[in-house]
Amino acid sequence: MTATEPPGAGLADRHGRVAVDLRVSLTDRCNLRCSYCMPAEGLDWLPSPTLLTDAEVVRLIGVAVRRLGVTEVRFTGGEPLLRRGLPEIVRAVAALEPRPQTMLTTNGIGLTRLAGPLAAAGLDRVNVSLDTTDPARFRELTRRDRHADVLAGLAAAAEAGLVPVKMNAVLMRGLNDDEAVPLLRFALAHGYELRFIEQMPLDAGHTWRREEMVTGAEILAQLRAAFTLRPDPVRRGGAPAETWLVEGYEAVDGRPARVGVIASVSSPFCGACDRTRLTADGAVRSCLFSQEETDLRGALRSGATDEELADLWRKAMWGKPAGHGIDDPRFLQPIRPMSAIGG
Ligand code: SAM
Repeated sequence: MTATEPPGAGLADRHGRVAVDLRVSLTDRCNLRCSYCMPAEGLDWLPSPTLLTDAEVVRLIGVAVRRLGVTEVRFTGGEPLLRRGLPEIVRAVAALEPRPQTMLTTNGIGLTRLAGPLAAAGLDRVNVSLDTTDPARFRELTRRDRHADVLAGLAAAAEAGLVPVKMNAVLMRGLNDDEAVPLLRFALAHGYELRFIEQMPLDAGHTWRREEMVTGAEILAQLRAAFTLRPDPVRRGGAPAETWLVEGYEAVDGRPARVGVIASVSSPFCGACDRTRLTADGAVRSCLFSQEETDLRGALRSGATDEELADLWRKAMWGKPAGHGIDDPRFLQPIRPMSAIGG
């Protein structure tokens, strides 16, 4: 073992972390245009020949699970429900040995049709993104009139047994910064587990300003004015969300209701990060904010063996930066916007 070579079989990095949680982006396209993520007119989509085919995605996930110790696979995008072969991809991944946990992060549009087939294919859980309880505001934030579809998607996920259904919300100054309490009331009333995510500098327009960001502390203060929150006794481990129990409320399974805050900017958890990312065009990113990526598609299409692909992946992760560096004055936003990385 040397300091310049990844040791062992897994996805270790030189700061002592080991990645076991894989985020796979299945497309950079989306049917919403959330202002903190995509411009109104959309983006130049990745050209089709550069996108991994279903068989290529499954092969790379297989390499990650069987050779690199990945235990959780989360499908994301863009909007992963727009990927036509999604149920078949989920089925193939859920059939891997050892079986990884399979999860999906989605805007929920289309879940009324797909939640059942996805659950039957072996999907374990979903996170549905919803930033407002108000349909008119939803139209303003996402530039699409699909609020009812998201609510129906959430209900369909619960109906299909993809529980606990989690909700992700981003609060933005002057747009929906008064929604912490209404969103939690909505989630509690339906048995969904809500997580607030601090807005990160990942928008295509590069308009993010730290001073304007609604912080996790601010969100908690709003929640505490309306609810009693107790520290969650369950250990956080590598999970991005810090969670609290909401006194007096129960989740659908009878466990205490929880709410979480992902304070990626004001309280980074990079030291415990256990994630690795694969983009829809086959690049490994060691961090959401990486400036560098490692192309696996080229190697795969040139006939690399599974072990050669695993080796490239290990090397990519070995160079994972210690932290995302948002607080560093030299911080540069990644060239790919969130929708093309996979959140
Ligand atoms: N389309 C799917 C969805 O809406 O969940 C999956 C992709 S989306 C990029 C994944 C998550 O990233 C969503 O919960 C979204 O709110 C969040 N997200 C996007 N841009 C963000 C940003 N700049 N800061 C924080 N979260 C962001």
